Amino acid sequence: MWGEKTLPTLPESNRPLVDPFGRGITYLRVSVTDRCDFRCVYCMSEDMAFLPKRDLLSLEELDRICSVFVENGVRKLRITGGEPLVRRDIMTLFRSLSRHLDSGALDELTVTTNGSQLARHAAELAACGVKRINVSIDTLDAAKFHSITRWGDLTKVMAGLDAAQGAGLKIKINTVALKGVNEDEIETLMEWAHGRGMDLTLIEVMPLGEIDGQRIDQFLPLSMVRARLAERYTLNELDDRTGGPARYARVGETGGRLGFITPMTHNFCESCNRVRLTCTGQLFMCLGQEDAADLRAPVRASSGNEALQQAIIEAISRKPKGHDFIIDRRHARPAVSRHMSLTGG
Ligand code: SAM
Ligand code: SF4
Repeated sequence: MWGEKTLPTLPESNRPLVDPFGRGITYLRVSVTDRCDFRCVYCMSEDMAFLPKRDLLSLEELDRICSVFVENGVRKLRITGGEPLVRRDIMTLFRSLSRHLDSGALDELTVTTNGSQLARHAAELAACGVKRINVSIDTLDAAKFHSITRWGDLTKVMAGLDAAQGAGLKIKINTVALKGVNEDEIETLMEWAHGRGMDLTLIEVMPLGEIDGQRIDQFLPLSMVRARLAERYTLNELDDRTGGPARYARVGETGGRLGFITPMTHNFCESCNRVRLTCTGQLFMCLGQEDAADLRAPVRASSGNEALQQAIIEAISRKPKGHDFIIDRRHARPAVSRHMSLTGG
């Protein structure tokens, strides 16, 4: 088992991960690879250049960094990417991190996936203590799915969902609302997801990374989608908060939960509880800002975790108040140059 050289767990009152605005950092998202077996049109260009493998943190290094966060008060880890389930031996990381669930130091270990590899990993994810997963699906039309993802096969993703539900995993479907592409399908997606006992969360396109085409052509404000849904459905506002940008409603007619992630039309920064680690060890304190702290150097400099812990504490002391995304014709370039697949969605 990795992570033997760990720091003693600090008592609750001494946990240092509180940012300058008094927000406790309890949630770490980890992008374990920038690679993917899809090329979603809003996420990547078709000819993406990926990072050389030598720049990536090893699975052992990822485990060490995650473990120091857990020892310092992080209660939730989300493994993401790129497509996390295409990273070789990724289940080794899940198996290793599950020790923090067993010890009670961690409340939740979870994953965001495109579902393409889920059929072969679902049972083991469940065995590692993963209870809930996010699966991204923007359409139920196989041809449209192929054109949005460029390389994806909806049949495989559906088999992944079956396997995940068979293994007892709770599923939240993530759907990016795309103007003129799936806007007429939102009701169908919701009825389908809720009918299978899955939550559905709608996401606004964010200006992350250069893609082929213009963001303004993809951007569909969720305020509009919500207003349209409200004409046919009863949306009962829920108090559920995850410290993130999602706001939830219970849909009277389906009984299911519907989330809205609206970074562009609603500011969510005041309650932000999260930071993001890239597969090269850069820690981003805000999804919408360029500032990052390098954790790869301290993790490689010594086998002890003191320098790493100091680097993390220093990084959290720099967490900014919020982001400033803008999409309009005058801002044709992305607000943030890196792709979502690097920072981790
Ligand atoms: N590959 C996995 C997947 O697709 O679920 C995990 C990584 S992906 C970057 C995480 C989430 O980010 C997905 O739900 C995806 O739809 C969303 N996403 C990617 N690029 C985005 C963008 N520019 N704006 C909004 N959401 C985006
Ligand atoms: Fe891959 Fe996920 Fe980005 Fe689609 S959204 S290209 S599946 S990383």
